[in-house]
Amino acid sequence: MEEIGAFLKKREEEGCLRSLKEVSSRRNGRICIGAREYIDFSSNDYLGLSGHPALISKAKEALDRLGAGSSASRLLSGDLEVHHRLEEAVAGFKKTEAGLIFNSGYQANVGILSALYCKDDAIFSDRLNHASIVDGILLSRARMFRFHHNDPDHLEFILKKERARFKKALVITETVFSMDGDRSPLARLVDLKERYGCQIMVDEAHATGVYGPEGSGVVEEDGMSGRIDLIMGTFSKALGGFGAYLAASKDIIDYLVNRCRSFIYSTALPPSVTAANLAGLEIVREEPERRLRLLAAARYFRDALRHKGFEIRGSSQIVPLIVGDNHRTLEFSDALQKIGYWVPAIRPPTVPRGEARLRFSLTIYHDMEILKSLTEEIANVGFQAA
Ligand SMILES: *Cc1c(COP(=O)(O)O)cnc(C)c1O
Repeated sequence: MEEIGAFLKKREEEGCLRSLKEVSSRRNGRICIGAREYIDFSSNDYLGLSGHPALISKAKEALDRLGAGSSASRLLSGDLEVHHRLEEAVAGFKKTEAGLIFNSGYQANVGILSALYCKDDAIFSDRLNHASIVDGILLSRARMFRFHHNDPDHLEFILKKERARFKKALVITETVFSMDGDRSPLARLVDLKERYGCQIMVDEAHATGVYGPEGSGVVEEDGMSGRIDLIMGTFSKALGGFGAYLAASKDIIDYLVNRCRSFIYSTALPPSVTAANLAGLEIVREEPERRLRLLAAARYFRDALRHKGFEIRGSSQIVPLIVGDNHRTLEFSDALQKIGYWVPAIRPPTVPRGEARLRFSLTIYHDMEILKSLTEEIANVGFQAA
């Protein structure tokens, strides 16, 4: 057990030790930790749907009618009507033949990739893809090639060299990157996957509910519906619920029902959660003003911080302010905490070394007034820390 102590000590010295923080309440974009209330910039509840009355009442109704748990996996007796209604809604939302729901985004990525690909195949993955994608590729035992972040030219360079040696090949990317807040060059990736005879999978965890005329994501926004083989996303972020989905052809979904271990060997999502997810999808369709307001606030905040001279990445509701050094990033985050803002310091291994950052996750609770005064506070704190 010596190595465990050594690990903890080293992480502490590097400013990379993480610990859990107990949140005692969470409402309308504010959280209480310890005895104090903070304006929360760490939440993925982008549209504020987790507290929406429609999600809560649908969840309660399902809870009262069907109980707290789903009692079994989908292939046994846990397969409820509400799961099927949600899967039909996902397919409609994403304009694919079929949909399948998973217990979390992590389980979806790990299960889908390991069921569909094997050691004879190649997976071409953006260097900044989420850990669940990396783990799915490892579990599949396919050969992994990582292309430079959002760089189709580099992808093509690797495809030219490697594609012919493998039977099946997949290109995989997030559509909005969780730590950089930028969007993938989807049209170019789709062009490459078509020219090199690959499949493509996208992870719309941070795009679902935020982008696209109907709010279904970047695939819709970029006019790529019908050209993506596997569209994965989550209910746990902008949709305000919990769990994940895959939208794909009926054959792929039928295959996964038979082969995907994270789907087969896990109890089905509870009815209350599933009903809330369904209500989340409906609200996203019916209330586009939520996402429009969110993206307008993000544009304002990003421009304001850049104007103050900070290095800000991306173009979405995720606004990363790059600091670089781990300890300085922690100090920056602590200083903001002292004046009432909860902004997480994101450090390696979540992001590459030397790229530690504050990650502002905007939600509809952050109005212009909050963002304006926060910008001033950040400028003060930032110049002090430098
Ligand atoms: C959050 C996230 C996941 C995991 O989803 P969970 O439902 O939280 O397990 C997967 N991929 C990306 C890109 C994510 O941001």
